[in-house]
Amino acid sequence: MKILDLIRQRSTPFYSLEFFPPKDREEWPAFFERVVRLKAMNPLFASVTCGAGGSVQSNTLEIATRLKRDHDVEPMPHLTCVSAKEEDIARSLEEFRNAGLDNLLALRGDRPRNAGPEWRPGTFSCAEELVRFIRSRGGNFGVGVAGYPAPHPESSSFYHDREYLRRKIETGADFVITQLFFDTREYFELVTRLRGMGIDVPVIPGVLPIQSLASIRRTLSLCGANIPGKFYLELEEAHDRGGTEAVKETGLRFAVAQIRRLIDGGAPGIHLYTLNRAGLCLRIAEEVGRL
Ligand SMILES: Cc1cc2nc3c(=O)[nH]c(=O)nc-3n(C[C@H](O)[C@H](O)[C@H](O)COP(=O)(O)OP(=O)(O)OC[C@H]3O[C@@H](n4cnc5c(N)ncnc54)[C@H](O)[C@@H]3O)c2cc1C
Repeated sequence: MKILDLIRQRSTPFYSLEFFPPKDREEWPAFFERVVRLKAMNPLFASVTCGAGGSVQSNTLEIATRLKRDHDVEPMPHLTCVSAKEEDIARSLEEFRNAGLDNLLALRGDRPRNAGPEWRPGTFSCAEELVRFIRSRGGNFGVGVAGYPAPHPESSSFYHDREYLRRKIETGADFVITQLFFDTREYFELVTRLRGMGIDVPVIPGVLPIQSLASIRRTLSLCGANIPGKFYLELEEAHDRGGTEAVKETGLRFAVAQIRRLIDGGAPGIHLYTLNRAGLCLRIAEEVGRL
């Protein structure tokens, strides 16, 4: 079922979950055990990331298919176009259709970090062009796109970032999932700006439970999100005091408060970046209580 319809049917806020396909096949049984545990959160849907190089797309498709077939979780595979030719995207759409998948997240992606001089950009230069192509092919997919509470690092200004997101949605996206952020004001500014432009699609905030100081440093360096200085100092202090466990605990308390602020402020639900971990996500849901 299309995610937009699932959201409309739901009268209360929801969780959705992001997974990445584990690299090694031996890790898959443990991964699906975590999926089973996370079903306790009653996720509205689960998204499955894909590499931007195109080579791991088949794992994304298989995980998404198994989520639906074996676990009764509505899947949303990610589809990146930065390295793909038009025929590659057409083939992926055909595969999604054949697998009975109803939704996808349309993304540009980033040039692969290990790309050599032989790397060539794909047919579509941005997600807006990808959405246009998907809509031109019919197929009736539910289509989500990415939004950036702190503007995307490549955008020249807040104005251009929001204007571009408006175009991306008007081209045919049903809803937005945001990049991770820690200052809820950034999310509410994005939503207010879109509403002011006459855009009323759901904007689902992406929340990252912090697992360690090293992982949050790596994540921030890759995605360009902001972290409030006070919170970062709290994480450093927790690390000096009690190592990774104390960092996780500090991150958990922050995520719980962030989720409550988002829901109280009118967010339709919460997209949790699970990093394929179950325990921390379940504890967060337990501490937040009823959404
Ligand atoms: C929810 C979510 C899931 C993600 N999943 C994956 C994944 O599975 N795999 C992966 O490789 N990456 C993933 N990413 C990362 C994403 O691929 C990168 O952030 C990438 O740099 C941009 O992709 P995009 O689809 O937002 O690009 P686009 O929408 O094409 O553009 C990104 C930004 O560039 C600017 N821009 C682009 N084109 C124009 C234009 N014509 N005019 C003006 N401004 C423009 C805008 O500021 C825009 O926000 C994800 C990101 C998010 C938020």
